[in-house]
Amino acid sequence: MLSNQFQNGIESAKLAWARLPNSEEDEAEEVGVSRKEDGNRVESLDYEVVENHAYREEQAQRGKLYVGYYVGVKWFFALLIGIGTGLAAVFINISVENFAGWKFSLTFSLIQKSYIAGFLLYILINLVLVLSSAFIITNFAPAAAGSGIPEIKGYLNGVDTHGILLFRTLIGKIFGSIGSVGGGLALGKEGPLVHTGACIASLLGQGGSTKYHLSSRWLQFFNSDRDRRDLVTCGCAAGVAAAFRAPVGGVLFALEEVTSWWRSQLMWRVFFTSAIVAVVVRTAMGWCKSGKCGHFGSGGFIIWDISGGQEDYSFEELLPMAVIGVIGGLLGALFNQLTRYITSWRRNYLHKKGNRVKIIEVCLISVITSVISFGLPLFRKCSPCPEADPNFPIECPRPPGMYGNYVNFFCGKDKEYNDLATIFFNTQDDAIRNLFSAKTIHEYSAQSLLTFLVMFYTLAVVTFGTAVPAGQFVPGIMIGSTYGRLVGMFVVSFYKKLNIEEGTYALLGAASFLGGSMRMTVSLCVIMVEITNNLKLLPLIMLVLLISKAVGDAFNEGLYEEQSRLRGIPLLESRPKYEMRKMQAKEACGNQKVVYFPRVIKVADVVSILKSNNHNGFPVIDHTRSGETLVIGLVLRSHLLVLLQSKVDFQHSPLPSDTGGGSFPIRHNFSEFVKPASSKGISIHDIRLGPDDLEMYIDLAPFVNRSPYIVPEDMSLTKVYNLFRQLGLRHIFVVPRASRVIGMITRKDLLIEENEGPATVELQSTSV
Ligand code: ATP
Ligand code: MG
Repeated sequence: MLSNQFQNGIESAKLAWARLPNSEEDEAEEVGVSRKEDGNRVESLDYEVVENHAYREEQAQRGKLYVGYYVGVKWFFALLIGIGTGLAAVFINISVENFAGWKFSLTFSLIQKSYIAGFLLYILINLVLVLSSAFIITNFAPAAAGSGIPEIKGYLNGVDTHGILLFRTLIGKIFGSIGSVGGGLALGKEGPLVHTGACIASLLGQGGSTKYHLSSRWLQFFNSDRDRRDLVTCGCAAGVAAAFRAPVGGVLFALEEVTSWWRSQLMWRVFFTSAIVAVVVRTAMGWCKSGKCGHFGSGGFIIWDISGGQEDYSFEELLPMAVIGVIGGLLGALFNQLTRYITSWRRNYLHKKGNRVKIIEVCLISVITSVISFGLPLFRKCSPCPEADPNFPIECPRPPGMYGNYVNFFCGKDKEYNDLATIFFNTQDDAIRNLFSAKTIHEYSAQSLLTFLVMFYTLAVVTFGTAVPAGQFVPGIMIGSTYGRLVGMFVVSFYKKLNIEEGTYALLGAASFLGGSMRMTVSLCVIMVEITNNLKLLPLIMLVLLISKAVGDAFNEGLYEEQSRLRGIPLLESRPKYEMRKMQAKEACGNQKVVYFPRVIKVADVVSILKSNNHNGFPVIDHTRSGETLVIGLVLRSHLLVLLQSKVDFQHSPLPSDTGGGSFPIRHNFSEFVKPASSKGISIHDIRLGPDDLEMYIDLAPFVNRSPYIVPEDMSLTKVYNLFRQLGLRHIFVVPRASRVIGMITRKDLLIEENEGPATVELQSTSV
């Protein structure tokens, strides 16, 4: 009976394999992955503890000291992640500010002599910077393209996208974003910083990079996907904390946007990492203030202090603010939709033509961006500088090559400035600072703001998805603050008596666009408050975010969810679909024939089964003396490959290897079964076995996870989904109704005091 079932298993696996190549191609077409990339098929991570014999032995040997040591090392790593991410952020900022600084001062000094030469030089510098970034991405670190947040979100949801946490991706991300942001493209460095933080965390977690000989045995302590998941969460929070100098925002971003599982202990650690980042960044900025970092001064890190802004708001203002929320929701949803179409077209047609096309595309966008940002301000008439207010002295116009408001850009007269150049021909951080600036009523004309809005929105949509590291926070803030300021201008002229500042509206606009596109609420709210240092605006930001999210949600999903879907990252959302309520677990399995292993199996059969399918988990069955079959656990493909490669467990006899009572010879450490993070691990095709090896047997009993999660076949799919999602599982067995119940566990049985059995708390129970 057993061998019959087993044969069935193999047969069905063979059938399934016969269909696989086609279905794989179909899948690749559907998600827009090129056929070349088929080898990078998405697989899940093993966040569940594999309780096999080696694991149980290891746990039995460990004492309290080990647990203390383990926790201590985790905190130490959290510290290192904070320092590493903080330093990476400082390095990126110093480089971007210096490149941009040189670019602007060289261009300004040349245009004194010749407009054309200055214009060409500006285009050329941008092109070289962007080209360097595209070159790094296409030839060295393809996984570093884009913001990386959808992939990290996928990783923390349990999906392993190959290459996202490699050392080369980290290097590509850092240098690539310096090129793309320094080159003036319509993108930001904040999303890439989240990815950078995650890469640093993962590399630390696996003890460095073995490929580049940069690893240390002392650091190789966390070897499970589960431990690395916690560290990567710390890395994400550190990235946001570093990008915006918003430590609490970082923690909330990790909680709200990227993680799928959260524990209170993790909150502490993430908070600690973010605090470390804040200290590192502040120290570095203090050091740079004395001019030791070239063009990098107080600018660069996003911090737009508008604390001198609007102190209070009146009831009449709530309506225009709500309108900003609605505009943000509409424009954000449109942004998501447009970027989705364009990215999908790019992936399916343009980028399939190879790296050269990707590079040409980015270069073309760079030239267009440079022409627009240099050329458009030329068509604007300069405006006279405002009357100086003794309370708020302003510098107008600014000397060429300097950052700040009121830029003199080809203005004939001395006391004039070009408002469009103030936002367009500037680094993005400075442009935002200018848009947010309070006490500068009517600095910008509606025409300039509208021109900038249309142009920058278009550029941001087109630039999104190109082969360079790109974040969407800063472009989002720029777009939002432009229409926010436009609404602000309208309100100022409408309610003349009120003390209204356009800068405040710009800030609300920025929040609304981010809310409408990314659909975050709590974290964005805190980030906005942290970067503006103005707590009084909190209720307004909350109002605007809620409205923009609600409006956006009416049209489509958030930016990261849309992008995850487009990249073929199968995210499990926090809520199951409504239809699942009516479905049962067995319906989800369809008509599949389960591929399983008998407990003792010939090596040749293991190889043939593994070659015949792509599954990663297999039930292992044994049979009792009375001939009944018994599922003894789940074995992972990766573990089987380790066994086949090491060969030490091969035996000549087809009989079980235990000496009775379930004790097995221990030949492996638990750590041997762990594959390095983001590595595909070995494949069955890499394993070389001689004819003698193939004739041997292997007893799988010590290597199975004896406690896989099991659900009865008629459990509703909603419940299965929640179990799977909340515990971060990879496989669940669906079984027929159990024939016996051997016990009952209640709350009481789980209240275990240390060094004791179940507590003797008497809980009142209701009899039925
Ligand atoms: P993941 O892809 O999430 O890492 P996996 O690789 O183990 O997990 P797949 O093989 O990709 O799972 O699953 C594809 C389909 O095959 C699913 O519908 C699943 O139910 C089914 N499947 C998985 N394992 C087995 C198995 N051992 N026998 C039969 N069907 C299986
Ligand atoms: Mg799979």
